[in-house]
Amino acid sequence: MTGTKQKPKAFATLCGRIFREADPQYFPAAQHRGRKIILCTDACLGAFLADPDVFCKVHRNSDKAAARMKKEIEHLIGLWSQYDPSAKSD
Ligand SMILES: [Zn+2]
Repeated sequence: MTGTKQKPKAFATLCGRIFREADPQYFPAAQHRGRKIILCTDACLGAFLADPDVFCKVHRNSDKAAARMKKEIEHLIGLWSQYDPSAKSD
């Protein structure tokens, strides 16, 4: 077996979108108040850069919801991996 299947990842963008089985390094990102934030598209990044504080205020609630959703997705991915023999690491 030479398969190097990557484990699915889940992450949430600042604007509240959830991505799973995607790599955050391919999404536009920026630093805001010492924290790395990820945006879904370049257009979204542009809107953030235009006024970061307003953007954060507008998306504050969705950011919280996204964090909660992200936990649920990670939990689900954990469950899926139990049924996927290729995802076992030990
Ligand atoms: Zn976005």
